[in-house]
Amino acid sequence: MKIFGENVFNEAVMRERLPKTTYKSLTKTIEEGLPLDPGVAEIVANAMKDWAIEKGATHFTHWFQPLTGITAEKHDSFISPTKHGLVAMEFSGKELIQGEPDASSFPSGGLRATFEARGYTAWDCTSPAFLKEDAGTLTLCIPTAFYSYTGEALDKKTPLLRSMQTLSKQALRLLRLFGNTSTTRVTSTVGAEQEYFLVDKKLFDKRMDLMLTGRTLFGAMPPKGQELEDHYFGSLKTRVAAFMHELNMELWKLGVLAKTQHNEVAPGQFELAPIFGTTNIATDHNQLVMDSMKKVALRHDMVCLLHEKPFAGVNGSGKHNNWSMSTDDGHNLLDPGPTPHENFQFLTIICAVVKAVDDYAELLRVSAANPGNDHRLGANEAPPAIISIFLGDQLTDIFSQLQNGGLSRSLQGEKSASGVKTLPAFRKDSTDRNRTSPFAFTGNKFEFRMVASSQSISGPNVVLNLIIAEVLSQFADRLEQATDFDQTLQEILKETAKNHKRILFDGNGYSEEWVEEAAKRGLPNISSTVDAALVLMRQSTIDLYEKHKVLNRTELESRYEINLEQYSKQINIEALTMIDMAQHQIIPAAIKYSTQLANSIIAIKSASSAADVSVQEELLNALCSTLVSLKANLTTLEEDVQVANAMTNDAYEHGVYYRDVVFKAMEALRHDGDKLETIIDADIWPLPTYAQMLFML
Ligand code: ADP
Ligand code: MG
Repeated sequence: MKIFGENVFNEAVMRERLPKTTYKSLTKTIEEGLPLDPGVAEIVANAMKDWAIEKGATHFTHWFQPLTGITAEKHDSFISPTKHGLVAMEFSGKELIQGEPDASSFPSGGLRATFEARGYTAWDCTSPAFLKEDAGTLTLCIPTAFYSYTGEALDKKTPLLRSMQTLSKQALRLLRLFGNTSTTRVTSTVGAEQEYFLVDKKLFDKRMDLMLTGRTLFGAMPPKGQELEDHYFGSLKTRVAAFMHELNMELWKLGVLAKTQHNEVAPGQFELAPIFGTTNIATDHNQLVMDSMKKVALRHDMVCLLHEKPFAGVNGSGKHNNWSMSTDDGHNLLDPGPTPHENFQFLTIICAVVKAVDDYAELLRVSAANPGNDHRLGANEAPPAIISIFLGDQLTDIFSQLQNGGLSRSLQGEKSASGVKTLPAFRKDSTDRNRTSPFAFTGNKFEFRMVASSQSISGPNVVLNLIIAEVLSQFADRLEQATDFDQTLQEILKETAKNHKRILFDGNGYSEEWVEEAAKRGLPNISSTVDAALVLMRQSTIDLYEKHKVLNRTELESRYEINLEQYSKQINIEALTMIDMAQHQIIPAAIKYSTQLANSIIAIKSASSAADVSVQEELLNALCSTLVSLKANLTTLEEDVQVANAMTNDAYEHGVYYRDVVFKAMEALRHDGDKLETIIDADIWPLPTYAQMLFML
């Protein structure tokens, strides 16, 4: 296909445009993770510039991922003045390698005092440069890492690259122990399935809550929700199909392998899945996916909502982060092969994942925490806030064999026939999917399903890479010292199967019983972003991150501060938006309708004293009493917000106040607002309804 990768400075373009030696040197850097030769940068920059200009680009930008979780760009033009008032198009190696954006307005969590607000961006040559199209202009985007003057990571990419390095190192140690001498690098691979909602732009524009916070802060339940399950995988509406087509084109040009798309569970909800790739590139691509979704939707008079819970009472959105590890010679380390009970390398790696997820479940939980996800996790519809692992029949059986200290079989799925001769019989997938598990083995990869829809997937993958690297290193330490390799390995496998069986669960993860059972097993259940943040500051967390040089104490502190600060800020914005909507839209509507009702009662009564106006009176009374309650709850919320704004407590206590006081007051206000919506005349009600937003596409 001609357009695929058309806007990417990819390997094919490099091979064509770079001198052989430069190309070789650069690919060596990329493939083997070696340091970049500075001499190479100058030549690459020149070739990149020529390529970009030929395509019509006028500007370039270092494209980076500050701790806001989205991407940032600062555009510079290629233009450089020459003699006689002329200009030349220039782009030097230095400009390619390093940039210095004004970093003072990005969150740094105190990492960088503002007086020395210097941050540097550095070219990540392992992720290809690309051209981004915006309103007809093309900009050369150079993926970069972003760090401070003193070398501390200010972004999401730097720790991800560090975690990939440590995973490769530890996985290689293990592979060597199993006699592998040819692999030189192990990379984690990721495929991120992205869920999102689409709403009509005209309706969106009438909802201040959607505009400012990405979710509806008021809204009564529609008469129809998702109960008929008629949306899931249903045929696409023409308008949505046109959007998806254009989105695919856009993503293909950017080299993103967007592959499947379908309706999701909730009405107005959809999903896009790409083909997996190297974690680093998959993370960049997921940012491009989110970015493109928003832009393309606008061209179709729709708005793409990436919030985890745009609508109360219907399914929220998440990301399924499919994760595996691959060798540079193309072997998927989570591929069980036909008889996994004989595949000891595979079993060791599976055991490492199980132990890592059990030992560091709380870190995984933190990695998926944001204010939006607090509405989902544990809300009876998404993976609960408890981490557990689903292994499937075959591996579960192998695990029980391991506990008993002997391996004799790999269960094989039975042939499953449909009863129709002309349909192919297929082997039942031995990992037959348990959709309620937050961490499921799905054949040759693990699927982490807790990830929030709007967040960068960097955080969750940093944790996965890091914790699995740590356990691999523990195993390697023991095995390297072992006098009898086979015996030590047996011990490790048996121990893991015994000590970590509590994390394995193949029942219904959404059930109440599981919450109780998990508590009995001692599994952590952290229900809010605020409490999750505390895990970052534990000594054991700091030791782990520092041991593998993924983040140091200061860098972790900054992330702790930022997580909490963003939480409080988000709730604060939501509270202020609710106050504004209640004051300026809902109360006036209530007054208008109550006046109409009152006038109607007076008019009818004066026309006929015998007329029964009990319906109007009943409505009027219900309306007035709800309005009184709403006003009282509004006042409480206003006071709570004032208290919160005046607080000088530390970030954690501030967050707790927002969660326990402000958020609770918001719920009370919403309750009255939604009740008014059910009473007030639809022509007077100022906000588009759930039914309109969810079903009018
Ligand atoms: P579903 O979860 O909807 O049943 P699939 O199992 O087909 O879908 O794949 C889901 C995602 O997992 C896709 O994005 C796919 O590219 C990704 N994936 C497949 N193999 C791997 C792998 N080895 N590493 C990481 N991701 C993978
Ligand atoms: Mg999935």
